[in-house]
Amino acid sequence: MRCRKCNETAVINMRQHKLALCGEHYVEWFVAQTDRAIEKYKMFSRDERVLVAVSGGKDSLALWDVLLTLGYQADGLYIGLGINDKAPYSDQSLEKTRAFAAQHAQATLHIVDIADTYGKTIPQIAMEKTRGHGKPCSACGLTKRYVMNRLAAEKDYAVLATGHNLDDEVAVLMQNTLRWQTGYLARQAPVLPSTNPHLAKKVKPFCRFYERETATYALVRGIDYIYEECPHAVGNLTNFYKTLLNQLEGQSPGAKLSFYLEFLRARGEGAFEQFNRVDQLHECEVCGQPTTSPGRCAFCRMWEIGQEGESGRAGERETVVGRLQ
Ligand code: SF4
Ligand SMILES: [Zn+2]
Ligand SMILES: [Zn+2]
Repeated sequence: MRCRKCNETAVINMRQHKLALCGEHYVEWFVAQTDRAIEKYKMFSRDERVLVAVSGGKDSLALWDVLLTLGYQADGLYIGLGINDKAPYSDQSLEKTRAFAAQHAQATLHIVDIADTYGKTIPQIAMEKTRGHGKPCSACGLTKRYVMNRLAAEKDYAVLATGHNLDDEVAVLMQNTLRWQTGYLARQAPVLPSTNPHLAKKVKPFCRFYERETATYALVRGIDYIYEECPHAVGNLTNFYKTLLNQLEGQSPGAKLSFYLEFLRARGEGAFEQFNRVDQLHECEVCGQPTTSPGRCAFCRMWEIGQEGESGRAGERETVVGRLQ
């Protein structure tokens, strides 16, 4: 297979675009497509500060790399979950993230270690909350969302960017569609505007890239990322839907992309507008972050912050790695 632009050996053939490209032209195409998505969905401008949630995986490091290449003001946030129970996942992902940051001196990497900050790792708090039975994903998801929102608010980032790719988005879309979760469908979008001064705008600049496209970009650019996914992701429902959707894509190239883009079109035409509930937000009485229920927010309740005798913020500590040289 030859590159359509220069006839060199192609590194990727994108059947849905009928486009094969060599390494150099692929990187050029990928960066330009990302910029186009940022503009098309009005994600952010070069004047806004963007916080990229980085996990050490290919998508988030590739996203940080592309945003820096394009000249956006993009800093990273790594959340140390302490997931080293089944494999040294967190230790290795931190190592990859630090190594990437060290090569990009213009950017800052913020690190929030959950165990240092709140006293327990994610597997430990999950074990406690589920009396040893449940998976850690819901505790993990709640904690990550909270820390991202809070750090963005405290450090004055207007935008929070995540590396979700098309495969991630379509798997979620499939789950929500099969159950007609209209409220979730109404809120699934490349951009979620801020609804409160303490909540940054959420954006997904890679939402139209297939997973193999972000992986190819990371490989061609020589980004060293953690290949293994979190050990707790093995066998989860999202991966089950990803497998099903890959079978569909194999039979019908472009099926995933058109499922997603047609959904966005219908959504844009207001198909789910009536289900877009705007929650009334209150200030958490302990941490001050916005919450839908009056009193303590779900995060403070789960971590038992603000219980009698506790001072809420007193036990918190944030580790910030400054500008890495
Ligand atoms: S798969 Fe791992 S990182 Fe993802 S939510 Fe579950 S515990 Fe957290
Ligand atoms: Zn070429
Ligand atoms: Zn709170």
